[in-house]
Amino acid sequence: MTLERIPWDQYFMAQSVLLSLRSTCTRLEVGATIVRDKRIIAGGYNGSVSGDVHCIDDGCYVVDGHCVRTIHAEMNAILQCAKFGIPTDGAEIYVTHFPCLQCTKMILQAGIKKIHYLKDYRNDQYALALIEQVGASVDQVTLSKKYFAELQLGEELASIDEAPQTDQ
Ligand SMILES: [Zn+2]
Ligand SMILES: [Zn+2]
Repeated sequence: MTLERIPWDQYFMAQSVLLSLRSTCTRLEVGATIVRDKRIIAGGYNGSVSGDVHCIDDGCYVVDGHCVRTIHAEMNAILQCAKFGIPTDGAEIYVTHFPCLQCTKMILQAGIKKIHYLKDYRNDQYALALIEQVGASVDQVTLSKKYFAELQLGEELASIDEAPQTDQ
């Protein structure tokens, strides 16, 4: 059997999907991974400011139809770089959903040159125009089941379930 290695795009997008499972807002679960030179430099999901309550516990804080409690996944990933002093110039980002206009502006201003996204989500026309205007690019990734068929995470990790749970 020849081992077919998982392509980078599949690997990084799967990382974002995994991160989205940590989202604390039930309205939309988003994950984002920032990559430079084929290395993951940061990751984020949409959630509250550290130390605040979570939407999943207290309900969303909705103003004008939007939950204002959460920081978007893309912003969290970029802020992680700011917090720890990691350069984002020339990096790429993998996001589970097409970024909103505010996140797109931040991504571009952080010097990120390529946006890979999994699902279309209210794709903003101005965001698309901006991406082109500044010479960045956008690319939709489709995850292919064949690269994940061998994972069987639940079974492989079944024995770990029996160990005492240490949450967070
Ligand atoms: Zn919320
Ligand atoms: Zn956003």
